[in-house]
Amino acid sequence: MTPLQPARGTHDLIGEEFRRHHRVIEVARRIATLYGFEEWATPIFEDTRVFARGLGDTSDVVSKEMYSFEDRGGESVTLRPENTAGVCRALVSNGLTQANLPRKVFYAGPMFRYERPQRGRYRQFHQIGIEVLGAAEPLADAEVIACGWHIQQELGITEGTVLEINTLGDAASRDAYRAALVGYFTAHQDRLSADSRMRLERNPLRILDSKDAGDRAIIADAPTIFDHLTPEAAGFFAGVQRHLASFGVPFRINARIVRGLDYYSHTAFEFVTDRLGAQGTVMGGGRYNGLVEEMGGPPTPSVGWAAGVERLALLVEASGLTPAAPRQVAVIPVGEAAEAPALALLQSLRRAGVTAEIAYKGNLKRRMERANRLGARAAVILGEEELAQGAAQLRDLDAGTQQTVPLAEIPGRLA
Ligand code: ATP
Ligand code: MG
Repeated sequence: MTPLQPARGTHDLIGEEFRRHHRVIEVARRIATLYGFEEWATPIFEDTRVFARGLGDTSDVVSKEMYSFEDRGGESVTLRPENTAGVCRALVSNGLTQANLPRKVFYAGPMFRYERPQRGRYRQFHQIGIEVLGAAEPLADAEVIACGWHIQQELGITEGTVLEINTLGDAASRDAYRAALVGYFTAHQDRLSADSRMRLERNPLRILDSKDAGDRAIIADAPTIFDHLTPEAAGFFAGVQRHLASFGVPFRINARIVRGLDYYSHTAFEFVTDRLGAQGTVMGGGRYNGLVEEMGGPPTPSVGWAAGVERLALLVEASGLTPAAPRQVAVIPVGEAAEAPALALLQSLRRAGVTAEIAYKGNLKRRMERANRLGARAAVILGEEELAQGAAQLRDLDAGTQQTVPLAEIPGRLA
């Protein structure tokens, strides 16, 4: 039988790749904790209605990228394409919409989108993300962004990355802006892509997010929202910028950022790198004031972001920061009588926090070869003579030195 391959758009995380992936999540988890976020895990599949909420949603994710299917009981379920909707659903389902707001939630896990696979774009990928649920103040937006920047700094991958921010205004701003956009794009309708012509009717703002080259040229001269902001919306955006400056987060304004999902208002932002080609957006987010209500909860203004773990991990690799694998200590019994004391020593090493291994078979030569092949830092050789005195040979494989050390002292020496 031909060997089976991973399904298209999925990939295995092995060795170095796993270590980078793990580093991204661990750093994000640690920094998010410093900002007061608590981790939640919501299900990987949900009732399809959690993601597809009515006909108004024209985002790529909802209109063509979802993995939805009927389960055996005839329910329509969807593998989550993102986790903001799941977190909002969980807030409502668990009766948390009143107590202890704002709630600050961190998550990490796999997401699924039916997309054309390429470097940095997969069908199963992973996101880390944070949400502040139940905060209407621009300080929340700024803190969420500062946390995202902090994580990237801690990972050591900020070179070549810029933060771009925009505002989508409030409902009144957006209505006025929408009318201006419809006027503009209608005048250029014949040159728009088929996708964008459809968006023109359903959600003209989404045209701004088009990746089509012809559309991009037309978008370049489109009106911006800044001429249509209400004083309240303009004041909110000014507040976000003021707090970002206080947090020491550099940014620039990009009027074209609208975000991939339809539920945003006010702040929208993206961290974009010049190191990953077309897949340059590593972290994106914004304010969503209506989503919890759409899940059946009370009005709960919220803000958050999600970042692609694979894209951050590619930056970790490009920055030469791939974490090293832990180096082992090889425990090597010589002769059958040495096996029992070797296993006892092995466990005391592990309990002392030392990565240690014993080969399952082989003579001294074979075991030493294996230790060298694995890049072990030390070998503990338990031979008959030393064991009789309650000791073993401790060999430093980097220095090539060796000495006799009492068994009880070995874990302390290697910890
Ligand atoms: P893009 O414009 O690249 O399609 P998006 O706007 O669809 O991104 P979001 O929904 O905002 O992306 O998701 C947040 C982040 O998740 C992205 O910035 C990116 O880093 C990552 N991401 C999104 N889709 C994928 C994918 N198919 N494979 C890998 N990472 C992804
Ligand atoms: Mg996308």
